[in-house]
This record gives sequence, C-alpha cells and structure tokens, in this order.
Amino acid sequence: MLGRIMDKPLLISSLLQHADFTSGDREIVTRTVEGPIHRYTYRDAHKRARQLAKALQALDVKLGDRIATMAWNTHRHFEIYYAVSGIGAVTHTLNPRLHSSQLTYIMNHAEDSFVFVDLNLVSLIENVADELRGLKGVIVMTDREHMPETGLSNVYCYEELIEGHSDDLTWPEFDEKTASSLCYTSGTTGNPKGALFSHRSTMIHAYASALPDVLHMGESEVILPVVPMFHVNAWGIPYGATMVGAKLVFPGPKLDGASIHELLVNEGVTLAAGVPTIWLMLLAHWRETSSNAPSLKRTVIGGSACPESMIREFQDDYGVEVRHAWGMTETSPLGAISIPKPSMTDETKRLRLQAKQGRPVFGVEMRITDDAGKPLPHDGKAFGDLQVRGPWVIDNYFKMEESEAHDAEGWFATGDVATIDPEGYMEITDRSKDVIKSGGEWISSIEIENLAMGHPDVAQAAVIGIPHPKWDERPLLVIVPAEGKTPSHAEMTAFLSDKLAKWCLPDDTVYIDALPLGATGKILKTELRAQFGDHQLPEA
Ligand code: ADP
Repeated sequence: MLGRIMDKPLLISSLLQHADFTSGDREIVTRTVEGPIHRYTYRDAHKRARQLAKALQALDVKLGDRIATMAWNTHRHFEIYYAVSGIGAVTHTLNPRLHSSQLTYIMNHAEDSFVFVDLNLVSLIENVADELRGLKGVIVMTDREHMPETGLSNVYCYEELIEGHSDDLTWPEFDEKTASSLCYTSGTTGNPKGALFSHRSTMIHAYASALPDVLHMGESEVILPVVPMFHVNAWGIPYGATMVGAKLVFPGPKLDGASIHELLVNEGVTLAAGVPTIWLMLLAHWRETSSNAPSLKRTVIGGSACPESMIREFQDDYGVEVRHAWGMTETSPLGAISIPKPSMTDETKRLRLQAKQGRPVFGVEMRITDDAGKPLPHDGKAFGDLQVRGPWVIDNYFKMEESEAHDAEGWFATGDVATIDPEGYMEITDRSKDVIKSGGEWISSIEIENLAMGHPDVAQAAVIGIPHPKWDERPLLVIVPAEGKTPSHAEMTAFLSDKLAKWCLPDDTVYIDALPLGATGKILKTELRAQFGDHQLPEA
C-alpha cells in the first residue's frame, strides 16, 4: 500500500523561492571581482535569477543543456546556480586552475553550449575557445562599463542580459532525478571524470548538511564559503544556506588571509568553510597582526586532512570550533564529519577524535574492505579500502558505460584507505596511491604529515615513499620550514620518535619553498615524487 502524500518533486528552484518567502530580507554579501563590496537580499537574488532564467530561455537553453561557469564565489555565480538548474539545464562549474588542455577536454566532453565567465578569467576561455566544439556564446559576468575587449565571438554582458528580461517566470516542474549540476574531479590519473548531480540528490544533501551536528546552518548564521563554488558546489553551502535563509558572504577572487579576515570581521561571520591551506593563510595573518574574528564560532575544514595543530590553534587560541569533514566530488561531497560524542569529555581524546575524518553523515553508509572486497572489522586498527553508498553518491560517472569504481552491491570505492573505530569514527590513512609500503607494512603518510606539522619550525609538511632496495619504500619528509628556520632531520626524528613507531619514522628530511598544489588545493604528491624520487636516502 502506498502512502497518500503529494508526489511533489524536490527541485532546487524551491530553495530560493522559499528563502524569498521566509527570509527575503536576509543579506547576501559579495566581494566583487570588480572590487567593491556588493550587498543585496535573497528577494533580490530570486528576482534576478528569474530574469536570468528567462534570458537563458530566450537564448534557447533547454532541459539538460550544459551551461558552464568559470567563476569565483559571488552573488552572480549564485544567481547562475539557480537560474540554470531552475529551468532544468545543468550548471557545469569549471576550475580556473586547470591546465588549458584539461579545460578543453572537459568542456568538449560536457558539450557546454554557453559559458559564464568572470572578468579576470576571460583569457582562460579565450585560450581554448577555438577548440570548443559546441560553444554558442560567452557571457561575461559584469556590467557594460567593465566589459573587456575580447576577440571572442558571441559575447554577452551579464547585467545587460538580466536587464533585458522581466522576472515574470514560474519555475518549471520536472522530474526530481533531472541532472542539475556537473563537476569534474581533477583527475590526478587519466582524464577528468564528471560527477553529475541531480535535483533530488542536491536537495537531500542540503537537508542533511544543515543539521546541527553536520554544518549547523540556520537563519541566524552568517556563512562564508571560502571553498570555491567550482569545487563540488562549495560543498553544497549555496543550497543548504538558502534552505535555512542564512546570511551568505561570498569572498570573490581574494582568498588571502587579510581579505578573508576583513570579511569575517566586517560581516560578523559565524561559520566559514574551506580547505586547510586557506586556514593556514588566515592563521598566519592572525598571528602576524595579533588579530582574530570574535564572531566566528565554527570552521568546517576538509578536502585534505586537517592537522591536529590547526584544530588546536583555532580552538585553544581563538575559541573557534573546528569541524573536520571528509568527502569527495563523487559524494556531493559530504561523507563524514568529526564531532566528539557528548559522552567524550577527556580533552586530549576529543582532540585526537577531531583529527579523524569522523562518523558518516546520515544518508551515507560506509565500510572498509580488504583487497578481496571482504569487509574489515571496526576496531580502529584494521585499515582497508573505504567504500560508501547513499542517495547523494554517484552511481556512475557522466557518459561512462560501466564504472570500475562500483561493485555488484553498489558500493563506491573511494580510493582512500581508512580505519573505522568501534565508536564509528573513520580515519583516512592515505589515498591508496600515496600509501607507503615498507617491508610488507603500510605507513600512513597523512599521520606523519599531521605530526610533523605540530613542530613549531614547520610551516607545511608532506611525506612520500622513496624506492628502497630492502624495504620496497621508505618515507621521506618534505618540509616547508617556518620563516627563518631549518629544522634538521635529527631534530624532526627526535620530535616524531615518541609519537610514531620506529619503523614509521622518515629516513630523511628535505626542504622546499612551497608545496606543489593541485587545482583543488591538495598537495600534488605526483610532483613531489617526480622531484624527490631519486633522493638518496642515508644508509641506516
Ligand atoms: P579530487 O579527487 O578531484 O582531488 P575531491 O575533492 O573529490 O577532489 O577529493 C576527494 C579526496 O580528498 C578524498 O578522496 C580524500 O582523499 C581527500 N580528502 C577529502 N577530505 C579529506 C579529509 N578531511 N582528510 C583527508 N583527506 C581528505
């Protein structure tokens, strides 16, 4: 027997429509690409999103068409999210840090018909435009006054496009399983692959993300997503925050410590989200200027492992609670979040748990398996391949016939290696391709990195495996020293030796000015291996 409940589809447009109705005067603030701070309300955003939707329909954009964006986090990008998905087209977010050959590949693979581009990123589209097969037009996200000179054809001015249309539009209704947005993973191996989200998956993810023990979003929060809208939809914040009518603050192109600090303070931000590298810059700024942001209650840190030293600094020095989260493009991205249970009162143990990637968010099932696919125990010691499934986890990549990453029961192999403890906390020990295999044992590069980052003379640390005639591989510690310091290998060994098993201690330490980062701010271990792979380890 079926329940007698209305079969209303879960559609993204309803989020903004609802925010207009219930929190219409709540602000959305942007540091614009042009420079000045722009502020308006959910009601204004909804009006302009409908105008833009009409403009897109006038350009003959139809259900399922892919519309690309090459843009920072701004109110205009927010409007595009809603206008494009709202009429059943697909927002395809592009990462400006991608190499032009990857950009061409992705845009042709997605068959993007239009691209919205920020003023200071126009050259990236100019570089590839000749090779884009399906592109019908480029919309520059600015007003007439700031329109750049460009050799691109079919160029539109964003503000003119909006002004040319009324907001007389009722959001269309269609199947909630309709694709809404597309995001390619940066593809450290092989070609990038597209994760194609649906209205349904986005909406359920938005509900889950807002919960108190997840991102804790509500109308009284002031939320600054530093994580880019081209990186898994800014972790879904533009949807979840709209669902609850929170004040939104968009940082535009300026992500340095001073610029982020200014927004935190001026706008009274209570919740901010981003990758560890962003917070390194902010914390350095706070240290240098003896400042902080009193309104900030929480930060969500994910995308890479958050070192324990960072959690400690935020919490102990500035009273900002850290929520360490794990996820990936393929999981929309929220998978797990680490918050100690109420029963866990011991401060040292709480901190240790926060450094883990945490318990699955309701909606996500999680397990670890051995090489034969057999589930491993949740004892906090056994580590294996992390697999997930749930209503916002991809069931295949865009345009792929078969997925090598899914098994017969629908589990998705994340490519991460992890443990799960009896309390349900998952901890990533490595990406499977970064694990260091030494004498038949596995050494976690992430664990050593986290510990090394706790040394006061270390600004950043990475660990890679170096080929070894006897042990297969041995760990090499790569350090970005703190200004004016050079901690010696002996000092680092002494620092790490009471925290790590002896056989896990790095064989040597080398120094680098800056760690190579990929398009989503993660350390490029491939480049470190290319640079240091031949490093001669000292004889034991
Ligand atoms: P890409 O795969 O394109 O680099 P993703 O954002 O999809 O970008 O990356 C997902 C991966 O990032 C995860 O599989 C995991 O290896 C890593 N990751 C994400 N969050 C964390 C975290 N909190 N700790 C450690 N690794 C993380």
